[in-house]
Amino acid sequence: MARSAAGPEIERLIQLLARLPGLGPRSARRAALHLVKKKDELLAPLSQAMAVAAETVVVCSTCGNVDTRDPCTICSDPRRDQSTIIVVEDVADLWALERAGAINARYHVLGGALSPLDGVGPDELAIDKLVRRVAAGGIGEVILAVNATVEGQTTAHYIMDRLVGSGVKVTRLAHGVPIGGELDYLDEGTLAAALRSRAPF
Ligand SMILES: [Zn+2]
Repeated sequence: MARSAAGPEIERLIQLLARLPGLGPRSARRAALHLVKKKDELLAPLSQAMAVAAETVVVCSTCGNVDTRDPCTICSDPRRDQSTIIVVEDVADLWALERAGAINARYHVLGGALSPLDGVGPDELAIDKLVRRVAAGGIGEVILAVNATVEGQTTAHYIMDRLVGSGVKVTRLAHGVPIGGELDYLDEGTLAAALRSRAPF
């Protein structure tokens, strides 16, 4: 067995930190050392904040967002546009769109994208729930803000088919040149998509 430099409590902390996205064993060890060195300023308040989060975090039964209340802060905000639903694959995408702050709508988190090879079919995603939300009325537009991947686009087409005849406008994000992007550096797929979705000047 490999020798360990710390007691089992700290080893456990390292093992758990190593399971976080973006942290490998090395950076987990570094993070753990930083935490134990800053016991009062960091470790204690962090563990307290985590305990509170573990107690209170729930999944919104309307949109699938994670929050400490159900319905979530977004769904229960009366200032939000009630008639527009932005469909995203993951809560991370919802947070990214909120950071962009470009639109004051509500969301619907699918929980992934269709991927038959990985065994992800429509039943694994919150698609029926979306169709029911739209059927309940009051929705004018559904914006498909899924990833620009094969799986994301397959999912968008599937949802589009399911919403045909519902009377709502279904739109999707534009594909094209990123802000600050130089044409010479873009891949052919992005350039071709940008040309196809050109807009009047
Ligand atoms: Zn919600």
